[in-house]
Amino acid sequence: MLSIFWFRRDLRLDDNAGLYEALRSDHPVLPVFIFDKLILDKLDDKQDARVTFIHETVIELRKELEAKGGTLLVRYGEPLEVLRELIKAHEMAAVYTNHDYEPYARERDNQVQELLQTEGIAFHTYKDQVIFERDEIMTGSGTPYKVYTPYKNTWLKKFKEDMVKPYPSLRHLDKLANIKAEAIPTLEEMGFRKSNLQVPKPLLSKQVLENYAAKRDLPALDATSHVSPYLRFGLISVRSLVAKALQHSDTWLQELIWREFFMQLLYHFPESATESFAPKFRHISWRNDEVDFQKWCEGKTGFPLVDAGMRQLNATGFMHNRVRMVVASFLVKDLLIDWRWGEAYFAEKLLDYEQSSNVGNWQWAAGTGADAQPYFRVFNPSSQSEKFDRDKAYMRRWVPELDTPAYPEPMVDHAMARDRAVSAFKKAIAEM
Ligand code: FAD
Repeated sequence: MLSIFWFRRDLRLDDNAGLYEALRSDHPVLPVFIFDKLILDKLDDKQDARVTFIHETVIELRKELEAKGGTLLVRYGEPLEVLRELIKAHEMAAVYTNHDYEPYARERDNQVQELLQTEGIAFHTYKDQVIFERDEIMTGSGTPYKVYTPYKNTWLKKFKEDMVKPYPSLRHLDKLANIKAEAIPTLEEMGFRKSNLQVPKPLLSKQVLENYAAKRDLPALDATSHVSPYLRFGLISVRSLVAKALQHSDTWLQELIWREFFMQLLYHFPESATESFAPKFRHISWRNDEVDFQKWCEGKTGFPLVDAGMRQLNATGFMHNRVRMVVASFLVKDLLIDWRWGEAYFAEKLLDYEQSSNVGNWQWAAGTGADAQPYFRVFNPSSQSEKFDRDKAYMRRWVPELDTPAYPEPMVDHAMARDRAVSAFKKAIAEM
């Protein structure tokens, strides 16, 4: 008999809650990773940098497990099918894994639960990717928070330092099953090619975190941690990051709490992945002009901060947070294009794409009801550049033709566009 530990978005051996629990069970543990065909098939870019990153990470993980006398079984397929094959091939006592709160993952895990139940196999799942999950932080009347600040206050009140104590999963690796696994599927076998984009290493030094509050809004300095893809795929535990935040930066801690705020929001309101959070904004008369959208995607709007951000995204898979807010507001308000178009474009391009954070932040920028951000607050792209990139260092880096005749004129008049957007939002409310 053996137990399976199913790695998903927790690609590390250290401080891994589910892995720790599996290793402490009565049976040898076979770790498994599944490249989900249902997800990979939907990716149009066959050189997707995230697939390369996960592939490289999984190869490393297998090496680390082999060094401890175990292995990592890696399959490409539909998770339910792969689990059926594994049930046939091994005498299995239990499957262990960590919670995943995205709507697709919850549906998948319900099906897995049913399958395992009919086979008489236990399914043990654990909280790992957040400090507080699901309904652990609720209002006094037992409803989910829809606004960040009171959510954060309750989060901080309920938090205790022992919540960041690491799970000593590394110490129990002697419980790994001694099985010879087949070769890891190559990228080509899964229909992909190696990406040329590298995921940069996170910057988590004391110095970066202690300067964070003062410098985080200046895109030219690039003074944020870049930890987001590592958190997305779980190469670093959130507990270790919160522990660092407690030591070095309250502001940075608040950003990690934003992440959990949006995760619980999507968990409680899964329909917000595809619909405006507030029902009154579900019938806005968007312009949805495809030519305008293309200009935005390519960074050719004539608004230098917007263009710099979009070009940074296209070239690196990353965009500075301040600039993400500006480009999102510009698409939704200045161009009156449905926030879902922008959300989908970010989902395709961001190395750190996280459904809850992406949807939540897009709806925040659109003012469609996630958090208390009002719809009539419209970022002015010119004053944003003046405030956060005054000497144009960031804009020049990404838009070298700035201030030459080759650079396009602004594609809209901001004041006119602002009024047009506010009217469209007001009309949607009036017609409710
Ligand atoms: P740091 O500033 O060092 O922050 C540390 C961590 O805190 C981040 O890695 C992230 O996990 C979390 N965090 C920071 N800001 C936010 C925020 N506003 N919301 C939620 N979590 C936050 N972040 C994603 O991880 N995935 C996304 O798909 C995503 N889409 C976004 C879309 C828009 C329109 C906007 C405005 C923001 C989006 N963000 C997203 C949030 C934020 O921009 C990134 O988390 C951040 O830029 C990542 O860089 P960093 O790791 O250097 O962040």
